[in-house]
Amino acid sequence: MSTAPRLTIDLNALVQNWLKLKEKSGSAECSAVIKANAYGLGIEPVATALTKAGCKTFFVAMAEEGARVREVASDARVFILNGIFADTMDVITEHTLSPVLGNVDQVALWATRGNGGACALHVDTGMNRLGMDVEEALALSENKSMLSRLNVKVLMSHLACADEPTHEHNTLQHENFRKCMSKFSGLKASFSNSAATLARPDFHYDLTRPGVAIYGGEALNDVPNPMKPVVTAQSRILQIRHAKVGEKVGYGAEAELTRPTKIATISGGYADGFHRALSGVGVPLRGAKPEGGNVWLEGHLCPILGRVSMDLITVDVTDVPDQILQEAKWVELFGKNIAVDDAARACGTIGYELLTSLGGRYQRSFIG
Ligand SMILES: *Cc1c(COP(=O)(O)O)cnc(C)c1O
Repeated sequence: MSTAPRLTIDLNALVQNWLKLKEKSGSAECSAVIKANAYGLGIEPVATALTKAGCKTFFVAMAEEGARVREVASDARVFILNGIFADTMDVITEHTLSPVLGNVDQVALWATRGNGGACALHVDTGMNRLGMDVEEALALSENKSMLSRLNVKVLMSHLACADEPTHEHNTLQHENFRKCMSKFSGLKASFSNSAATLARPDFHYDLTRPGVAIYGGEALNDVPNPMKPVVTAQSRILQIRHAKVGEKVGYGAEAELTRPTKIATISGGYADGFHRALSGVGVPLRGAKPEGGNVWLEGHLCPILGRVSMDLITVDVTDVPDQILQEAKWVELFGKNIAVDDAARACGTIGYELLTSLGGRYQRSFIG
């Protein structure tokens, strides 16, 4: 036993989520985005489970992540979203990874040193973040001698506002992407992240690229999340304290008790990615003052009291019956009872950030 917080990852639910996205993808191939250690869950177990389920194409951000995927998915196509540089070339060729080429220099580099290895072309259709400009892409489409030295498998672009399927920026990006598609007519096209896979079938084309929805996160704003929860985070109860009206709780002594209060001190804190902005006293955040998060104890939602510290969180368990408290050992931070996105909202962020912040201290266990 340990006092380290626990992370339980349900690989059966993960696979079901991916199969649902695959079904949603219709005739398009469904890949899996497993960058950032598979959104915090663990790149190897996730790639292994998805490969077994039939996934053949993965996207990661960095070449080193791709090398880890290659260890467990020897036949998969592994795309490197960050592209290629002279000094990342070795990792990419050694592990037969496929760079997503994001500018003309990268195109030229891969054409001369890529040994005919598969690659993708990334066009920036309206995000100003990564990829060739539309004009550069159109010019490249005319450069037959350059293209003849490249083994391009996919033409791709990324959406800025897919979480709002009817946002007008999607239309602008789509028009730009269609312009490029028409000039690269032989290439497979990839335009959809999770949100567009779920809500924009007209954006599916040949290859979808879902990430967050595989892990049970919310991809779309303002609609019920159709995915199954995959990750449960739990924290061990270290002490139950009984405190009086007027007493203070935690750093800064900012939380002042207005009733006789039972406080559970639980293990884990911001060092485990359980953000300080979840503090019950509200840590100012971009002008907003979030009201703090909750934890779940046997049917009771218990508010966080005072500030979240590095390794400890204090929780108001006054309303939990003593019988339960005497037996209780663990509380849920998020999982089946508190959606990861609700926990994220309580600290002013998104499920993606909460998941990818989880850190290395958890005891991880896998179901399935
Ligand atoms: C992260 C990423 C995705 C996946 O996005 P989700 O919103 O997690 O589905 C797809 N494509 C690119 C280029 C990405 O960077």
